[in-house]
Amino acid sequence: MPETILPGHLLIHGERVAGEGEPEAVINPRTGAELIQLPQASAEQVDAAVAAARSAASLWRQTSPAQRAACLLAIADGIDQQAPQLVRLEALNCGKPAHQVAEDDVLATADVFRFFAAAVRNQQAPAAGEYLAGHTSMIRREPVGVVAAIAPWNYPLMMAAWKIAPVIAAGNTMVFKPSEQTPLTALVLADILNQVLPPGVVNIVLGRGESVGSQLIHHRQVRMVSLTGDISTGQKVLQAARNTVKRTHLELGGKAPVIVLNDANLDAVAEGVSRYGYYNAGQDCTAACHVYAEAAVYQPLIERLTERIQALQYNLADDSHNDLGPLISQRQRNSVASFVERALEQPHISLATGGQIPAGAGFYYQPTLLVGARPDDEIVRREVFGPVVSVTCCDSAEQAIGWANQSEYALASSVWSSHIGRAMAAASQLEYGATWINNHFTLPSEMPHGGLKGSGYGKDLSRYALEDFSVVRHIMLSHS
Ligand code: NAD
Repeated sequence: MPETILPGHLLIHGERVAGEGEPEAVINPRTGAELIQLPQASAEQVDAAVAAARSAASLWRQTSPAQRAACLLAIADGIDQQAPQLVRLEALNCGKPAHQVAEDDVLATADVFRFFAAAVRNQQAPAAGEYLAGHTSMIRREPVGVVAAIAPWNYPLMMAAWKIAPVIAAGNTMVFKPSEQTPLTALVLADILNQVLPPGVVNIVLGRGESVGSQLIHHRQVRMVSLTGDISTGQKVLQAARNTVKRTHLELGGKAPVIVLNDANLDAVAEGVSRYGYYNAGQDCTAACHVYAEAAVYQPLIERLTERIQALQYNLADDSHNDLGPLISQRQRNSVASFVERALEQPHISLATGGQIPAGAGFYYQPTLLVGARPDDEIVRREVFGPVVSVTCCDSAEQAIGWANQSEYALASSVWSSHIGRAMAAASQLEYGATWINNHFTLPSEMPHGGLKGSGYGKDLSRYALEDFSVVRHIMLSHS
């Protein structure tokens, strides 16, 4: 285990303190070995973290956008300086190939802080003026108060940035809880934040959902809860929010349809799906995980996809050549394997490639392609969150769009066609938070990320996240 992990794992009011709750094992998914036991925050420590956020609130909300922006830029610089350490710990804790963590996660994390530094200095509202004779109206945008932000395990560092940067840019103070499975990079981030921010602006507590997470979402002093996680966890947040009328911001699961029209460039589709259906071992809420292909291209696409998926590297000793890593845990790997087993019990579904747990240590699962799935099959309806893509044949774009819009999930989707008008028409009919055309997965900090329907509501990234984490007030001045 890295010697650099500090004895004080929590961050409460500017102090690094050891957790006083039950220890939680952090596992290396590449080997299954325990990396470290980290004590969770006790109930008293969670209370102290919320109290610290409350006590920091009045000063932090008075800082100017320029002052907050300067802090965010300093945090981004700190992330750049700590990049090697962050890459090492994220790769160790998640099993993700280190080159991808370096090229994608760490750069994107710093960029999110830089984006919100700029965005908070450029907020928009209706012009102040006399909308009623003799009265001047103006809009103020204010912080919500103490925000509790709870993150999942699939992109620990990026999820921390997506939560922390807009929340503090908008003038809130907060308590952040990383996933109990992937707390390691949050410990480094805690140091970076602590060097820049006044005590209490960001507090970090470790622990399980049912203990620390549950206490946060029920806490009377928490005014807003932001969760990225499972739909069932989102439902718990909503139930808890009812009692104290908290604001909520929910980024829940996804099941992204990839709609391939008969004039699509099949090599580009195969390249996109083999990359973005399996990136991060498919543990991505926007993963290109279910393909609807028009009949004319169905068979040739399966051939191209199979060839590319079989070329994916996933458990080479030389990590620099791996395209994906293991699943996060044995439980997640078993869950993925069960989905595939149940799918293959259907006589109409067949295995084009993969479908096995490879021999050896670690929570690996072969990159898998299932073909012949029907729209009502479990493998099409449910989020697998693993390196598994399924394919369904359709008669027309309209049929595929209809099937895609039946999904309980509505986060991300893509349309592939050489005819931009057909692609645009399809994109306009899809009921999803995002639709890529001839692409899948890419996400700049300036653009919103968030779902509709069961995928939740509220946006991460973009100026819309700043709006979500702030409240609008109307001030009206009488001239008399
Ligand atoms: P999860 O819901 O089990 O856990 C997410 C977080 O919630 C963790 O920190 C966990 O400790 C906490 N939590 C769990 N139970 C809780 C409770 N009762 N009260 C308060 N907090 C609780 O999800 P996961 O397994 O960590 O992550 C995978 C899920 O996240 C998938 O469904 C995936 O699609 C979703 N996800 C969504 C997005 C998005 O942007 N929409 C991004 C990444 C992941």
